[in-house]
Amino acid sequence: MKQKVAIVGGGPSALMLAATLDFSKFEVSVYEQNKTLGRKFLVAGDGGFNLTHGSDIELMKQQYHPSGFLDKTLETFSNQDLRNWLRSLGIETFVGSSNRVYPIKGIKPIQVLNAILQKLEENKVKICTQMQWNGWKGNNDLLFNETEVVKADIVIFALGGSSWSVTGSRGTWLPYFQKKGIATLPFQASNCAFKVDWQSEFIDKYNGFPLKNISLTLGNHSVKGELVVTKFGLEGNAIYALSRVIQNELKQHGQATVYLDLKPMFELEQIIEKLKQVKSKNTSEALKMGLNFSPMQIQLIKQSISKEDYVEIDKLAERIKSLPISLLYAAPIDEAISTTGGIAIEEVDENFQLKALPNHYIIGEMLDWDAPTGGYLLQACMSMGVVLGKRLNEIIH
Ligand SMILES: Cc1cc2nc3c(=O)[nH]c(=O)nc-3n(C[C@H](O)[C@H](O)[C@H](O)COP(=O)(O)OP(=O)(O)OC[C@H]3O[C@@H](n4cnc5c(N)ncnc54)[C@H](O)[C@@H]3O)c2cc1C
Repeated sequence: MKQKVAIVGGGPSALMLAATLDFSKFEVSVYEQNKTLGRKFLVAGDGGFNLTHGSDIELMKQQYHPSGFLDKTLETFSNQDLRNWLRSLGIETFVGSSNRVYPIKGIKPIQVLNAILQKLEENKVKICTQMQWNGWKGNNDLLFNETEVVKADIVIFALGGSSWSVTGSRGTWLPYFQKKGIATLPFQASNCAFKVDWQSEFIDKYNGFPLKNISLTLGNHSVKGELVVTKFGLEGNAIYALSRVIQNELKQHGQATVYLDLKPMFELEQIIEKLKQVKSKNTSEALKMGLNFSPMQIQLIKQSISKEDYVEIDKLAERIKSLPISLLYAAPIDEAISTTGGIAIEEVDENFQLKALPNHYIIGEMLDWDAPTGGYLLQACMSMGVVLGKRLNEIIH
């Protein structure tokens, strides 16, 4: 007799699991509360659709927190494995700028999703939509839509995090696990914007302006990338990647100061030299001519330094390399690209099985791990799905 598998949630981690399970051994059903599957996956596709990241797997593993938690998972189903698998479905990908991996031009996010769903159809996976999970009933049976009871031999939860609630990822499942005595952590915004109290003359003029090829530092953590100056504060991949450490700093000190390096490609001495070489006595002109700074960058420097220091080349160069920006709080959680919190990782074993509830597994953003956006999130979710699928194929005869 085939084992009955219930996958609860219909995001990328769930879909990859369903695509991997051996349908000669399992009767697989996916239960999703929305009318359709993969809504957040499609939202991810609306911007730059980074399916994974093209870096070496060793470097890739270093992007995840807590370190080590996903190493084996990423080794077993790596970024290259994901690209090969997508190719087998007819979805070609390419490595773009900053090593991010996208579907090739002309392939829309919905086509990627449909190709995966086609694979599920071939695997005879039953899709049950408009089925909202409301906890357990009786002897660990699953309760849907308050009245429907589903019995399964193996249950996998893949209910996502708690941002972009319009996609269905609302985190309303948290209390059901708490009631079972399973340790959870409050959700927290990650890969999100942070509030900066800009001077109004500055932001009125420069709202939406980018800061490219910069680096951002907080404590021992430095990230190269870009930022966008907005009315709310700062957004962009450099600050997203520091979300976790910024959130920790905010929790401890009520504010966080990040240091912006406007010219990470030059050492301090090189900047001093370049400024000295410019003949102009006007500092703003020297910044433009010697270092190619835009009016926005010049204004940003000006407002962070005294008039006296602005005309002192050494002090000015120091500020260019390390410009403090005070962050006050994170953007609302619903606007975050991802969330941390959810099920504590100590609650699952190396196969993502709940230690307190045998035959129940947790995968994807439901678990309390973190990574920068840019392909790392989807890769981890999809790797977890595939690795668990392979494991279940092995252990069930
Ligand atoms: C704007 C945006 C851009 C992004 N861009 C990228 C990117 O370029 N690259 C990248 O790697 N990542 C990106 N991400 C992140 C990525 O989309 C998520 O990390 C990923 O979708 C998480 O997958 P998941 O399977 O864990 O959960 P989700 O995709 O969140 O899916 C969970 C599913 O469970 C369902 N569900 C929840 N509760 C219940 C319930 N009680 N009963 C039944 N069903 C339920 C939900 O409706 C949802 O369909 C982006 C996210 C956003 C918001």
